[in-house]
Amino acid sequence: MTRSDAARKLRSTFLESLIGALRTLLETKHLYQSVHIKQRITDDFAVVGEGPREVQHLVLSEHTRLVAGRWFAIETDEHLRPMALRERDPPGLYFRPPDLKVFCGRCDRREAFNLISVSDALGTDATVMESSGPSPKQLFILKYQCQSCKSTPEVFMVERNALKLTLAGRAPMEVVEVSQVIPEAICCPLLSRIALSRCGHSIVT
Ligand SMILES: [Zn+2]
Repeated sequence: MTRSDAARKLRSTFLESLIGALRTLLETKHLYQSVHIKQRITDDFAVVGEGPREVQHLVLSEHTRLVAGRWFAIETDEHLRPMALRERDPPGLYFRPPDLKVFCGRCDRREAFNLISVSDALGTDATVMESSGPSPKQLFILKYQCQSCKSTPEVFMVERNALKLTLAGRAPMEVVEVSQVIPEAICCPLLSRIALSRCGHSIVT
């Protein structure tokens, strides 16, 4: 492959890791928990006319560029965006956050949630990127809607700190999926007891 093929391949595997990490964060983690993006670098980056050392340098510099650069969360898959738009946009990594399967409080079960809109709360403020140095900070606001009940969308706030993604906020608040692990007869009294306890009432057993 050529140098540009190798860079494209590296970018593509990085994108896969980013989407996978984001899915894990939103589907399985709770508020303030984090995931780290781990890039899978395969060893078949043989570049025509380049020795192993040059290839290693190429992989490393491309990886550093991706980690240090700005990421643009978009609502359409990158390859589906018009070429004219892609050429005009500022350089960076463009990605579409994945659709999810998460618990819907209204449906009372796990349902498919589709991405409706996405934005970066820190916007295009260049000073934010410059001041954060080699660990770029971004704050993505992701809006999803349950495809079953189509009720009020759920909003997730994801903080990016270089390769670390943290679930920094969620509205409405996450509903605890207790019915999956605790029988219904026990579940409701238990929740009442937890609520009483959190309100400062003592529980007599
Ligand atoms: Zn629902």
